Amino acid sequence: MPLIDTHSHLYLEDFDPEQPQLIHEAVASGISKLLLPNVDLTTIERMHQLADQYPEFAYPMMGLHPTSVNKNYATDLKEIESWLHKRSYCAIGEIGIDLYWDKTYLKEQKTVFTEQLKWSVALDLPVAIHTRDAFPEVLACIHAVGSDKLHGVFHSFGGTIDELNEIKKLTRFKIGINGVVTFKNANLTETLKQTDINHIVLETDAPYLAPVPYRGKRNNPIYIWKVAEKLAQIYHLPLEKVIESTSNNALMLFQNISSHI
Ligand SMILES: [Zn+2]
Repeated sequence: MPLIDTHSHLYLEDFDPEQPQLIHEAVASGISKLLLPNVDLTTIERMHQLADQYPEFAYPMMGLHPTSVNKNYATDLKEIESWLHKRSYCAIGEIGIDLYWDKTYLKEQKTVFTEQLKWSVALDLPVAIHTRDAFPEVLACIHAVGSDKLHGVFHSFGGTIDELNEIKKLTRFKIGINGVVTFKNANLTETLKQTDINHIVLETDAPYLAPVPYRGKRNNPIYIWKVAEKLAQIYHLPLEKVIESTSNNALMLFQNISSHI
C-alpha cells in the first residue's frame, strides 16, 4: 500500500531547483500522492504548475490561508472562488483561523473561514483546516455552518485531549499528523494514545516542521516516513498497517484523488 502525504507545499520556491529530484525520491520511497494546499493569490500559479506536471501524483486544493487574510480579503476570496469553477480540486484548503501571529483581523478571519466552509458544503469537498491558538473559534464556525454537512482534516494537529474529543464528535473529520509528533517536548504522543489510527492521516507540511532528526531543516517528502515510524511505535502496529490505515483514511476523505488508484 503506497503512502499519501495529505499536506505538502512542495510547489514553493524553497524547493527550487531540487523539486523534480525530490519527487523522484518520494515516488521511489513508496509515496504515491501529494496533496497541495494553497496559501493565497501568490501561490496559485506555482501550485497549478506542479499539479499539471504530475497529474496522478500531485493534487491541488484551493483556499485562502488565515495568515493571508487582510483588509483586501473580499477581492482575494473572489479570485480564489473563481478558480473553483475552472478546474478540479481535492479540497478547500488551507483555511482556518490563526491567532498566534496576529489578532488584528480576527473578525475578517472568521468571515473568510465561514465563507470557505460554505463552499465546501456547496461543492461537497473536504476542508483542510489550519488552526493555531484558535480552536474554540474554529469549532464555533464549523458548528455555525453545520458540522453534519462538513468533512475534512484538522491539519498539523497538536492539540489537547479535549480538543481531540471535540474533533471526534464531528465524526467526518480526521487529524493530520506530521513531524511535530517526533519532537521531544510535544505532549502529542500522550494525546494520540486517546485515539486510534482510524482517525489519522499523514502529512509533512513541507517545507515546515521537519521531523527529528531533521528538526529545523527544510522538510522534504521522504521525511514523512519518520512520522509513519513514530505512529507505528505509539500504536504498537507494524509500519505496513500504519501506511494502509492512513492511506485508506485519506482516500475516503479526499475522494477526488481516488480515481487513479
Ligand atoms: Zn500548510
